[in-house]
Amino acid sequence: NLKDNTIIIVLGASGDLAKKKTFPALFALFRQGFLPRDAKIVGYARTKMEKDDFEGRATSYIKGAAEDKEIANAVESFKLTLSYVAGSYEDGAAFDGLTKHLDEIEAKYQSKERNRIFYLALPPSVFIPVAKNIKEHCYNSKGGVNRIIIEKPFGKDLDSARELLNTVKQYWTEDETFRIDHYLGKEMVKNLLVLRFANVALGAAWDKNSISNVQITFKEPFGTEGRGGYFDEFGIIRDVLQNHLLQVLSVLTMERPVSFSAEDIRDEKVKVLRCIPPIERSDTLLGQYVAANGKPGYLDDTTVPPQSVCPTFAATTLWIHNPRWEGVPFVLKAGKALNESKVEVRIQFKEVTQGIFKDIARNELVIRIQPNEAVYLKLNSKTPGLHTRAIPTEMDLTYKRRFLETKIPEAYEALILDALRGDHSNFVRHDELDVAWKIFTPILHWIDGQSGPRPHPVQYPYGSRGPKELADFMAKYGYKRSDDAYFWPVTNLA
Ligand code: NAP
Ligand code: NAP
Repeated sequence: NLKDNTIIIVLGASGDLAKKKTFPALFALFRQGFLPRDAKIVGYARTKMEKDDFEGRATSYIKGAAEDKEIANAVESFKLTLSYVAGSYEDGAAFDGLTKHLDEIEAKYQSKERNRIFYLALPPSVFIPVAKNIKEHCYNSKGGVNRIIIEKPFGKDLDSARELLNTVKQYWTEDETFRIDHYLGKEMVKNLLVLRFANVALGAAWDKNSISNVQITFKEPFGTEGRGGYFDEFGIIRDVLQNHLLQVLSVLTMERPVSFSAEDIRDEKVKVLRCIPPIERSDTLLGQYVAANGKPGYLDDTTVPPQSVCPTFAATTLWIHNPRWEGVPFVLKAGKALNESKVEVRIQFKEVTQGIFKDIARNELVIRIQPNEAVYLKLNSKTPGLHTRAIPTEMDLTYKRRFLETKIPEAYEALILDALRGDHSNFVRHDELDVAWKIFTPILHWIDGQSGPRPHPVQYPYGSRGPKELADFMAKYGYKRSDDAYFWPVTNLA
């Protein structure tokens, strides 16, 4: 754990990620006393900014300062930790300028230890020159640690990911590298380990004998809205499935790790991912949204290339060939411009033996990752009263009602703290990425047109649940919805 003498350098400090996520997370850690004592935060980007401009930008997404004096005071103290250096990403001399600034800050430190944490909030086009330049010009070899934090996209397919990772490896060791998949910082994803391995009742039902099918779902209620240029290059599979949903899948399905140590956990994640063959075209449904209800279609976004066939919705089924999971379909599905905002895992159990019951609903365990974190188990119960009739009900753990005083930390808060502590458990290891790309590369090359004509996604209206073909797709993998039988009476959780 880093105690003193730490500088966090945010590269790309003028950008969107820095403003919306990195600085607010650093502020939250600062306010709760989790940053190392006397930690300083240095922004770096090409944009020329005065100190005031930078401070204004870095604190613009911090909530609550207008209403709460204590937060407002904390923001003022936080600003004292901030400074900014402008410079290019390609030019070594510019990084010497950054180092000069870091040396000046460190000259005031009492002890010899010097820790530098480099956070790359930058587009991938400059990952490599920046990783190289900070190693060659800003690395401190006089005692203390140097760490680099990077974020997706890690390449576009297996070859480009390997090239990127191997180039960064020439400068930074695996131990110094923290690859963020921010889903691993989400409270409910972290909770999967506890739910699975600290509960005999759940653990006993966690296999092909009890489980019929699993859905891991990401739904967004808005489209590209003017940011289509970036999205069109990647598509929904690279944006959400190959990284975030696959990470959730690996934590959901891995065997019990020997310990909670980072390497033990990541060993098990890699092992289960290696049991998954590349995705088949026949296990894939692709969609693209069209205008509806006064909302524009994907191709109406002027930043999207005309006639793009980029999928904005995808459902793909993965199979895990190991004794625990053989034959259980894992459907990963994600889409933009859908009817709601939600990320959840839905585990549907098998049917009870028929005979005494007829048409009885299946059990489902739902882990809602966002919004309104919850875990609920849909189970059949006798209707109260003189009849003996079963109806689907739920055992419900809704975080807002169960943990009244607890604030759930933002994923980036949790992850930056882990990086400061040197804990890699919730970061993606080199070999994990490699195997993730092996699973997805053939299907992505097909979608990109590298192995024949590009497939055309089916259309779905903006604001719908997705393509109408989804119902048959889900039925093919055994999902059974008990129509109208389940009803949730609570309305005031928002
Ligand atoms: P961004 O705003 O486009 O870029 C960050 C900064 O990099 C910009 O302020 C700009 O700073 C510099 N920059 C932009 N384009 C450049 C180019 N072509 N060449 C050199 N420098 C360039 O990106 P971002 O949204 O913050 O995202 C940063 C990284 O995090 C990306 O890899 C992204 O995929 C990932 N990410 C972002 C989010 C998010 O919420 N935004 C979420 C997850 C992951 P200067 O011009 O001042 O140098
Ligand atoms: P649900 O929203 O009814 O969805 C159940 C499944 O059916 C999902 O796979 C969904 O697919 C699919 N589906 C939804 N509408 C469909 C339709 N019209 N046709 C075909 N398939 C459809 O979820 P639920 O678990 O049964 O819960 C019902 C409601 O109760 C939800 O709003 C839930 O949030 C609420 N609830 C909340 C809590 C809590 O907060 N603690 C506890 C229990 C229930 P997609 O995911 O692809 O849409």
